[in-house]
Amino acid sequence: MPSTFLTSERTRRNQSDRVIRHRSMMLELQGIPVSPGVAIGPALVLDADGYRIPRCIVPASDVEDEFARLHTAVDLVSAHLEHSRLETTATAGRSTGDIFAAQLQMLHDPRLHSELQRRIGEDRQSAAFAVSGVLHNYASALRRLDNPLLADRAQDVLDIERQLLMQLGAVTRQPLSDLSEPVIVLSHMLTPSETANLDRRFVKGFCTETGGPGGHTAIVAKGLEIPAVVGIGDFLHQIAGSNCVIVDGDRGKLIVDPDDDVLENYRERAEYRRSLAVRLAELSQLPAETTDGVRIQLNANIEFPHETVACIDRGADGIGLYRTEFLYLSSDDEPSEEDHYQAYSEVVQKMDGRPVVIRTLDLGADKMGRGNMAHRENNPFLGLRSIRLSLRNLDVFRPQLRAVLRAAVHGDVRVMFPLITTINELRQARMLLNVVAEDLQESGLPYRSDLPVGMMVEVPAAVMMLEHFASEVDFFSIGTNDLAQYTLAVDRSNEYVADLYQSSDPAVLRLIQHSIDVAAKSQTPVSVCGEMSSNPGRALLLLGMGVRNLSVPPSALPRVKKVIRNVSIDQCKAIAERVMKLEAARDVDLYLLDRLSDLAPELVMQ
Ligand code: PEP
Ligand code: MG
Repeated sequence: MPSTFLTSERTRRNQSDRVIRHRSMMLELQGIPVSPGVAIGPALVLDADGYRIPRCIVPASDVEDEFARLHTAVDLVSAHLEHSRLETTATAGRSTGDIFAAQLQMLHDPRLHSELQRRIGEDRQSAAFAVSGVLHNYASALRRLDNPLLADRAQDVLDIERQLLMQLGAVTRQPLSDLSEPVIVLSHMLTPSETANLDRRFVKGFCTETGGPGGHTAIVAKGLEIPAVVGIGDFLHQIAGSNCVIVDGDRGKLIVDPDDDVLENYRERAEYRRSLAVRLAELSQLPAETTDGVRIQLNANIEFPHETVACIDRGADGIGLYRTEFLYLSSDDEPSEEDHYQAYSEVVQKMDGRPVVIRTLDLGADKMGRGNMAHRENNPFLGLRSIRLSLRNLDVFRPQLRAVLRAAVHGDVRVMFPLITTINELRQARMLLNVVAEDLQESGLPYRSDLPVGMMVEVPAAVMMLEHFASEVDFFSIGTNDLAQYTLAVDRSNEYVADLYQSSDPAVLRLIQHSIDVAAKSQTPVSVCGEMSSNPGRALLLLGMGVRNLSVPPSALPRVKKVIRNVSIDQCKAIAERVMKLEAARDVDLYLLDRLSDLAPELVMQ
């Protein structure tokens, strides 16, 4: 059976499980919660190909104009297709030219036109919105017929849609930057860099059809503190005419056209969150210390220099992970050494003597850069990413290392290499750091070369060899996001296997425990900077396993500090002991939730 068939079957089954249609017009869709919080507002719909559908419903007085716009668009696309048909027939023969003849036939299909007439005339949809809705429904219907030939025709239908939308002036995603009022973005997908560029003043939440729990889109959403749900499956064309939507980033729900009770309930929840945030803010200047007096280093993960403000406000002890690749992803130009230096110096100076761990570029996979750093691969998470990519692009890596050593004069800077898998990679990276320091020495620029050098522990191979790494680094930082991905053979950004992606899986926990034990034995400081540490229940577990240094997104600092201040290390050890006997991630999480409800009930949202 072809895998595409299996995939579409699965999508369909999942989809029907995920949609609850209520007697009112309300529609409830289930996805994967990736960034907590609740957002309520008008939807801005981007269709599957990245087109922005400008207006959904038009006033009655505009209906005639929309008909006229549709007819003009159909005429123009028709002329274009006819031209392509003639050209292709002349150059490639009649059977190839017939592809366009078939598209022309579809474009003039009377049923298509009567459905478009109905949507525009009766439902008062804009021409673009009607085109997008009708043609997507056609394409989905063709795909459902389980006939490979007809499924291929679905692509033709989508191609016609694209051409019509272009003529109708549906613009690409770029204009997300010209927003002037609050919206909830509903999109097929958002890349990490698109997410990084969202205007937080206006984008109050987002939901995507694709995406998995550990993807960098999810991480950026958390960094920006935008409530988000991903991996909902095919839904964009079920929401015609919807004005108000709710994104429930805690439970992974998108609610379209909520009824009054639901709206009220969510407003109350949003209010509860706000009052909890106020109460937790009172802890911000208190130490992250357990009830039996053990001080935990509670650091923050950042992607952008401006996040240091939130880190200081919320009392972070330092920056445990600065994901520098976002300097690349959020700008159109390749950053220069000076750009790196300015960004790092800003962070280090704002942190005012607190430690700052600068992680070198972790580009590749779902964080594609530009130029040499951009390439297509079949399995990008197993390919040329991260330190591998940096070591093969020294013209990009060197300026970054120079900037790190230069910024180190301003404070307590530490440098960390991502995705280290073999000892040779670590040695090469360290050697380059030394070479760069010598260059700086010659150039006479101020720099520091005695800064601590660490590595991310995020590949099982590195965990298994960790005692060998211990003698060559000053610290370890466990990256549970990638460690879970590579241990469980689950793509962290793939919605189809999202249920299998669990950092609380016992296999992952054993690797973490082994890393902590090696670190303790070799007296190498170790922290956990993966998303796992931002979940209060899992943070308890990590403390019980022996971790004393956690790094979490700034948004998670208050709740993680709260849970730390509510428990003793003995309580955490008892939790870890019990958890290490469990056999499945689900059992681990249920148990942790249960313990959290006892130990810090206010953090467990009802
Ligand atoms: C990780 O893999 O756990 C990690 C912190 O790095 P990133 O999420 O940026 O890959
Ligand atoms: Mg990682």
